[in-house]
Amino acid sequence: MKKITGVDILDDDVKKNLTTRNIYEVFNNFIIPLINEEEREFLETLEDFLINEVEPKIDLNKDVYSLFPILGKKNYIQRLNQYGDTEKYGMRYEMLLAMATSIMDPELDLARVVSGVIFANPLFLHGKGEYIAYVLDEVMSGQKVGCLCITERHHGSDAVNMQTTIEEYNEHIILDGEKVYTTNGPVGDYFLVFGVSNKNAPRGSMYQVLAEREMEGVETHRLGIQSIPRVQVGQTIFNSVKIPNQNIIGSRGQGYKNLFSGLVAERDAIIGSSLGIGWLTAITALIYTNIRTQFGKPIYDFQAVSFPIAQLFTELMAATELGFKSASEYKKTLKYSDQKFIKYNAAFSSGTKFLASNLAYKISYEAQQLCGGITFTDNLRIDKALEVSKVQEIIGGARNIQLYLVSRGIKDIVKRIASL
Ligand SMILES: Cc1cc2nc3c(=O)[nH]c(=O)nc-3n(C[C@H](O)[C@H](O)[C@H](O)COP(=O)(O)OP(=O)(O)OC[C@H]3O[C@@H](n4cnc5c(N)ncnc54)[C@H](O)[C@@H]3O)c2cc1C
Repeated sequence: MKKITGVDILDDDVKKNLTTRNIYEVFNNFIIPLINEEEREFLETLEDFLINEVEPKIDLNKDVYSLFPILGKKNYIQRLNQYGDTEKYGMRYEMLLAMATSIMDPELDLARVVSGVIFANPLFLHGKGEYIAYVLDEVMSGQKVGCLCITERHHGSDAVNMQTTIEEYNEHIILDGEKVYTTNGPVGDYFLVFGVSNKNAPRGSMYQVLAEREMEGVETHRLGIQSIPRVQVGQTIFNSVKIPNQNIIGSRGQGYKNLFSGLVAERDAIIGSSLGIGWLTAITALIYTNIRTQFGKPIYDFQAVSFPIAQLFTELMAATELGFKSASEYKKTLKYSDQKFIKYNAAFSSGTKFLASNLAYKISYEAQQLCGGITFTDNLRIDKALEVSKVQEIIGGARNIQLYLVSRGIKDIVKRIASL
């Protein structure tokens, strides 16, 4: 990787051992026992590709978007939905892709997940016709970038009561409003936007529509998000944008259902990215502390260093098992219409997203304290990973909202048996 401005003070023996290849080697030791043979093949091929084709092109002075077409060439913009001729798709493959990409470049993976999963998944599930297929081709190739517009200036956690409006006509709708914190927004080509035709009845009147950069009235401005300098996050304004009916992904009222069903996939994909950050920083700390010496011995030989690292690995292994479990459960959300199961899955994915993103932050933060000053420089990836983990914890719903969904889910169980 090219450096931003800082000098390189990493010892050669650390550098020699702390390669992405070695980090993947350690990672595979923990992951391969949890996955099947096809998944293992997928992971190993992906890791070779990332090391050989993507890593040499990473420039920390540049946005991540020029790396998208490289991922797109091998169908690695997402692996949740079937696209192209591969049979290796589904939430477990998507999680492996997120983990391996995050280990190499957490900012790249954040932007990829937004375009490839959070934007594209609703198109795969609800979009129809040649036009949607064309949009998906463009986004899957990595040539075009997608974003999701839910959050508004005055409606974040309370997303349902949004103020963005839709006026309905026979052949089109008119979209008006302002969305904020749109990841990829300032460079985005396609915007999946939620708006309502009746602000007093948002659930029954919510639409999900696809706006395009080229449409008259679409305006974007970059926000100064300092933790992820290579990913553009913005304010997105829709000034009476005329949107043809073919761009309606969720019609009146269906938009609300799509919003909530889409959040499970969103949370699961973020779990993969967070776990990747956890593995990147935990393994970096493990390798580094076994090489770095102080007081005449590797610092890992001090139990005050090795015990906390062992604890972080234990927690991360448990969270990874849970992450794969939530990925396997995701398939069932698509298959079953039983409300009890859908509610359970919403709560389960929320709880796991809370746990994984919080753990990624904790591991990255602790790794800095356990390894020392070098982790604050750009010689290692730990500080960058720490910053991205903070974002992972708030996108897809703040920590409290995940806990709110879990608390509501577990209360429902008691309600059923205790008739409260
Ligand atoms: C870098 C970044 C990227 C993002 N990308 C996107 C994107 O691509 N698309 C998009 O639509 N949005 C995006 N978001 C928005 C993100 O989803 C929201 O920030 C999040 O949902 C919280 O909304 P808010 O910031 O308005 O906080 P608020 O809703 O104002 O909440 C503030 C705090 O209050 C607490 N809180 C609120 N309600 C409750 C409650 N009921 N119970 C307990 N505590 C509560 C929480 O601790 C919360 O953190 C992004 C945000 C960031 C920072």
